[in-house]
Amino acid sequence: MATKIGFLGLGIMGAAMSRNCLRAGHEVMAWNRSPGPAQALAEAGARIAATPAEAAAFGETTICMLTGPEACQAVLFGPDGAAKSLGPGKTLVNMSTISPAYAREAATKVQATGADYVDAPVSGSKKPAEEGTLVILAGGDEATIAAVEPVLLCMGKQVARCGEVGMGSTMKITVNVLLGAMVASLAETLRLGETLGLSREALLDVVLAGSMSNTLFRLKDPMFRSDAYPPQFPAKHMAKDLRFAVEAAAGAGAAVPTLGVLEPLYRKLVETGLGEEDFAAVIKAMG
Ligand code: NAP
Repeated sequence: MATKIGFLGLGIMGAAMSRNCLRAGHEVMAWNRSPGPAQALAEAGARIAATPAEAAAFGETTICMLTGPEACQAVLFGPDGAAKSLGPGKTLVNMSTISPAYAREAATKVQATGADYVDAPVSGSKKPAEEGTLVILAGGDEATIAAVEPVLLCMGKQVARCGEVGMGSTMKITVNVLLGAMVASLAETLRLGETLGLSREALLDVVLAGSMSNTLFRLKDPMFRSDAYPPQFPAKHMAKDLRFAVEAAAGAGAAVPTLGVLEPLYRKLVETGLGEEDFAAVIKAMG
């Protein structure tokens, strides 16, 4: 059944996800802070909103796919923010990666309007977003998630139920520790091997030929071979997500020795001006 969707945020992920909503036959009204991406989506059949509030007034379901808490705060609760148009019968699905604490704070504000809130960050990068094969990490009321599931499944292949609002975000930042660690480990292996006199090509050939090969390493292989890191998952987002994981771990008293090394590594990448590159550029933070 076609749903009216307000879509807020047409970056790397949002542009691809909103296109899949259109392809599935939903009506989309999109808003993006800078105008270019919305114009491109209009050519694919979307309406363009002048403000987040206008998009949320159109949508039965409003989706946001924004950088993080600061962007969500501006787009949802700022002047002309989406919250102005939310109310009973409407649902806000926040697919941005935000901290669990901010997910709960945003949910409380949205629910105060009478609207429902689903915490729904995604696992998967640009390619799965384009192919509609993301894994959606949903937190919230079961009936609310079930009601928006048909829309979620035009962007993803699976909706993983994680618990209450905040637990989708908790799942996301937790698994991103593994993601960051895997790519940093591969980068370090390449750096070490090169320093010891091996070629990067030979190192990658050996890793990918054996039991350590996996989809992620195969995805990053061309980047490491060419030493070029066009953003699929920008390093600034990895650094942000690891910061959220550090905060959540500290709040829970969890021991995270690997994260304690990883977070400064990706932060350094951003501080040296490489935050827009793919997070595989972490190899450049290794000397
Ligand atoms: P992106 O390409 O950097 O896009 C960010 C979006 O947020 C853009 O639409 C940007 O608008 C908007 N934005 C940023 N600050 C804003 C503000 N203050 N006010 C209004 N709009 C603002 O990011 P992305 O890669 O699509 O990622 C979006 C979210 O998904 C992030 O939370 C990220 O961590 C998460 N995620 C990304 C990936 C990935 O592989 N890329 C994978 C999983 C999850 P402008 O166009 O005007 O800058």
